[in-house]
Amino acid sequence: MAEPTRPTPKKPTPKKQGATSKTPAARPTATPVRRPAGTPSTKPAAGREVGAPAQGYTSRMPESTGLQAVLAPVAGFGVTLANLFRPTVTEQYPSEKIPPKPRFHGRHQLNRYADGLEKCIGCELCAWACPADAIYVEAADNTPDEQYSPGERYGRVYQINYLRCILCGLCIEACPTRALTMTNDFELAGPTRAGLIWEKQDLLAPLRNGMLSSPHPMVEGTTDTDYYNGAVTGPTEQQEAWVTENRPDDPSLPANVAKGVPPAPRGETAQAQADLTAAATRQGTR
Ligand code: SF4
Ligand code: SF4
Repeated sequence: MAEPTRPTPKKPTPKKQGATSKTPAARPTATPVRRPAGTPSTKPAAGREVGAPAQGYTSRMPESTGLQAVLAPVAGFGVTLANLFRPTVTEQYPSEKIPPKPRFHGRHQLNRYADGLEKCIGCELCAWACPADAIYVEAADNTPDEQYSPGERYGRVYQINYLRCILCGLCIEACPTRALTMTNDFELAGPTRAGLIWEKQDLLAPLRNGMLSSPHPMVEGTTDTDYYNGAVTGPTEQQEAWVTENRPDDPSLPANVAKGVPPAPRGETAQAQADLTAAATRQGTR
């Protein structure tokens, strides 16, 4: 019977210098050297010697000569130096209010046609365009007894949440009837969150001289397109008769205006904001 062959013992691999039995051999690393700020790199760009100009580069800056070359180091301070000698402008808000520029994006306004009907048709395009989801609209059908705007529909509920609004103006771009525009009113602060949600009555434009407050019928024989094209220039006798019959106490009726009946109150939020602003102005002038 042959003897079983014994396995040949493995020759131990010699350890690398610095390596331990558990971790693999560490590669020697060089400590990075920090270059002081402003020191040019000594490493040449590929294919170029240190200090040699970049190949194919021609400066388009005109060479400074004479006085220009002398002043060149301080030219960057030109705007600063010029402003040092201008009068200081400190706006004394709120005691002195500087009107903003004409195209300033301030609080919104829901406009009316010349006879007092509302331009908003409740289409919700403004709400869809708003990136901040700040507008909420609910539309309803106009009826012969309650015609608020020319055409079929009007905005029954209209809210703008000024806690969200970033006054970007995208909503007014989206409005197909120019019902929504922005005013120059920027005083939109208040102590409560609820006070910054403006309702339709707060946003509706005030009635100008001769306008009849809605609802009332459209001008006889016109369509919503006529209104949009500016064919309606004011209320007619039939519209006035309709309002007289249905709302004899309406302050916008010429007879009531002549009697000195005070105009309809503004929306509650708009009035509260006006009171707040007036109080802040008084405080600022003390
Ligand atoms: S101004 Fe801009 S953020 Fe404000 S309601 Fe209009 S779309 Fe929305
Ligand atoms: S304000 Fe203009 S866009 Fe918005 S619901 Fe009214 S009509 Fe439509």
